[in-house]
Amino acid sequence: MQRIEWKNLNIDPSEVYRRIGMPDADSKRSQNFKPYVEQMRLKALGLIEVRCIYDYVPVKVSGSEEILLANQYPVKAATSFFEGAAEVLIAIQTIGFRLEEESARLFEVNEMLDGMVLDGCGTVALDEALELLRGMVVKDVSARGLQTGHNLCPGGYQIPLEAQKTIFALLDGGEIGVTLGESLVMSPVKSHTLVIPVGQKLSKPNLSCAITCEMCVDQQNCSHSRLKFGKPKPLATDGEKRNT
Ligand code: SF4
Repeated sequence: MQRIEWKNLNIDPSEVYRRIGMPDADSKRSQNFKPYVEQMRLKALGLIEVRCIYDYVPVKVSGSEEILLANQYPVKAATSFFEGAAEVLIAIQTIGFRLEEESARLFEVNEMLDGMVLDGCGTVALDEALELLRGMVVKDVSARGLQTGHNLCPGGYQIPLEAQKTIFALLDGGEIGVTLGESLVMSPVKSHTLVIPVGQKLSKPNLSCAITCEMCVDQQNCSHSRLKFGKPKPLATDGEKRNT
């Protein structure tokens, strides 16, 4: 099991507008929110603590809608994403408690707009952290001469939420302060788990470091998809920030 922290997040303002339901950063309506977005973005950058634990474990397709993780844990899944995979990257990632505590405090004192924008900044931070993680995994896996598949998240359409139990059995979430409740919701809430198939010749490879809505497996069901906002995200290049 490996542990990694990131301190170089950006929290892209245009992504914050999208996450709080504004059309885009340049629209007249969004301009009214600019002072709030700038202020809360800076606050968020001081509150987030991006931590991740991850590992690579063996995988094989073990049934019509089932995979076997680490040779012992059967998990329901859309198996087409795992055909050709010999292992999977599993990860737990969080931005910590501090931002969501401050956001909750703002709501409590009726600073609703600040609370909403700060919460949106936290979501964007978690998106960016996810893309940093994917970039790292794609580079590691490519250097081994293997292919990566799509980002698959328990609770999405390809892997049911119950898979969280297996992820937490294989990774010690406590190492980065993340726990799994009985309802399978993580604490801190601004956390996520990730599964990426890895193999020599995957039936559904995805070799991109960037996470774009065009290639996202949840595109059809995502209410935040950039495609619905009519603006696909430009692909990031090495050394640039990446957002999801
Ligand atoms: S479609 Fe996928 S990549 Fe785009 S915002 Fe939704 S979850 Fe993120």
